Amino acid sequence: DSKAFDREVRSVCPYCGVGCQLSFKIKDEKIAWVDGVEGPANESRLCVKGRFGFDYIHHPHRLTKPLIRREDAPPKGLNVDPANPLGHFREATWGEAIAAAAGKFGALKERWGGRSVAGFGSAKCSNEEAYLFQKLIRQGFGHNNVDHCTRLCHASSVAALIENVGSGAVTATFNEIENADVAIVIGANPTENHPVAATYFKQFAKRGGKLIVMDPRAQALRRQASHMLQFRPGTDVALLNAIMHVIVEEKLYDRQYVEGFTEGFFEFRDHIKGFPPEKMADLCGIDAGTIRDVARTFADAKAGMIFWGMGVSQHIHGTDNARCLISLALLCGHVGRPGTGLHPLRGQNNVQGASDAGLIPQMMPDYHPVADAEVRDLFRHIWDGAEISPEPGLTVVEIMDGIYRGQIRGLYVMGENPAMSDPDVEHARKALARLEHLVVQDVFLTETANFADVILPASAWPEKTGTATNTNRQVQMGRKALNPPGEARADWRIVIDMANAMGLDWDYDHPREVFAEMKMSMRSLHHITWKRLEQENAVMYPCLSTEDPGQPVVFGDGFPRRAGRAKFTPARVTPPAEAPDAAYPMILTTGRQLEHWHTGSMTRRASVLDAVEPEANASLHPSTLRKMGVRPGEMIRIETRRGAIEIMAREDRAVAPDMVFLPFAYVEAAANVLTNPQLDPWGKIPEFKFSACRVAPA
Ligand code: SF4
Repeated sequence: DSKAFDREVRSVCPYCGVGCQLSFKIKDEKIAWVDGVEGPANESRLCVKGRFGFDYIHHPHRLTKPLIRREDAPPKGLNVDPANPLGHFREATWGEAIAAAAGKFGALKERWGGRSVAGFGSAKCSNEEAYLFQKLIRQGFGHNNVDHCTRLCHASSVAALIENVGSGAVTATFNEIENADVAIVIGANPTENHPVAATYFKQFAKRGGKLIVMDPRAQALRRQASHMLQFRPGTDVALLNAIMHVIVEEKLYDRQYVEGFTEGFFEFRDHIKGFPPEKMADLCGIDAGTIRDVARTFADAKAGMIFWGMGVSQHIHGTDNARCLISLALLCGHVGRPGTGLHPLRGQNNVQGASDAGLIPQMMPDYHPVADAEVRDLFRHIWDGAEISPEPGLTVVEIMDGIYRGQIRGLYVMGENPAMSDPDVEHARKALARLEHLVVQDVFLTETANFADVILPASAWPEKTGTATNTNRQVQMGRKALNPPGEARADWRIVIDMANAMGLDWDYDHPREVFAEMKMSMRSLHHITWKRLEQENAVMYPCLSTEDPGQPVVFGDGFPRRAGRAKFTPARVTPPAEAPDAAYPMILTTGRQLEHWHTGSMTRRASVLDAVEPEANASLHPSTLRKMGVRPGEMIRIETRRGAIEIMAREDRAVAPDMVFLPFAYVEAAANVLTNPQLDPWGKIPEFKFSACRVAPA
């Protein structure tokens, strides 16, 4: 009934990397409901978050005025009085808050140099906001200490992709699965984390496509799978090398493709000889016959795709895991044709775009290395003579360590919540408390904002206009549907105010002007204009002409590497950083669940989602619960070398008997109190997927 709403505004879902297009139905200046619309990734489909995850923007907890920490506030921490949550802060005008926020960064830079200040941008913000934020850190703060949640998500996948195929983005859209005859889904749980993408995977299997699911959790997609390999956690490299051993040994590989489009094969072939399935079977927990069958199925396919998630990337060997997947696709020639490709399923709606826009400490926009003098010259030219430091900045976890070392003294956080999302989160919280200056820009008093000196009230996604780039490389237009509440402002506007208070003299009146500047350095945006996005809603990169909707499959005629060749990089088996032992005999793994998003600041304030999944819970196998004498719904205590939490136990046959699965959205039982901060040496991503733990009745 069109009378049931006053107006409708077409935009994009702010949650996962699928990037579903939707229509906000606005009644009395509120989102009354949401419908899916025909977008290239979703064809009108939405999941429960996209449909019911929006009333958080009307929640009474919204920040509506700038806040400054009171001089008489107690020491910084999570010591919030529920009756007066903002009690440690006083209200301020925008002028006062921006002057306090920017002035102190300027003073720290003056006294200690640009290396002493840092910024965390966010994949929850638009491309234009990400671009402006990294520009502010580089130009205003004077260093490259800028990062965002890609570091906790797919940094290792991107490191491996850039190294071996020359580009960090997917080589094919997930919708290409309709042209595949075999697909591997490994270390991903799309049914919960990319639900609309999962509907395409299920349709593929229904049509007779072979779906090979590999995961230490027997996740829901197993019901559609031709093969379900529930391998032992942390043994990905052994399993994938064993599969490739079979393909090489049985000469099933695509010789013509390997000779024509790759380098490093002979060294790789020698390396892979050491991984016969019969030798790897016990380590992986998968019998040699199954490994051989999977190898033959994938190699014999006319068109095969590989999808992966954070089960692959969040390990100290995450980059090695991704190297193996790349090698597997190259061996079989499953890149560059319809129905083939490598697709790391990106977590957040704009994590691809925020990375493209330069929220990365070693890379300027479009992955131009900061260490390259020509790159710095280009940006000096575009940024009115700005001097850019040639020294790569610190990553997310390194910035926290830098606070302990006394290097980092000031931090600007736009839309991230490290007091919940960092590994070994007590370490991160203590680091935040030590900062001389913390500015947090967000829509709620997040756990991180509790530690702030200045809080800047920002806009939720439906309250601003901007572009976002989904997992498919589709740049999509997000449109403002409502005004932010009270005095809250759009993030891009706040970043400009911060820059000008630091003396930068920026002059942008609309995100389209920022987008135009981005195009000056970002070849990925070639032929993509603001006008096109307004008219067409989405354009994919690479885009070959002003009429081209973008290329769903890339690298059919070679790779953006030396001589156009992709590379095989052999991967050794590296055990997890913390092996289970007598004191901590079980394995803890963390992730998301369907209804809740990341640290829960939005979805736990969305009434339907919170009603469906209101309570912190840990999933264990029924036999594990029985052994402990615990019934589902009772409380258990989970402990690692970093800390302990108490949480409700849930029965789940998909979890192996020696494992516990914990979602990380619940502050009252924060999973990251327990997780291991050890980093992958290339991607610098922490090992969220494997910590030794012990579990007992609470
Ligand atoms: Fe939003 Fe992802 Fe759900 Fe689509 S699948 S509605 S993008 S959360």
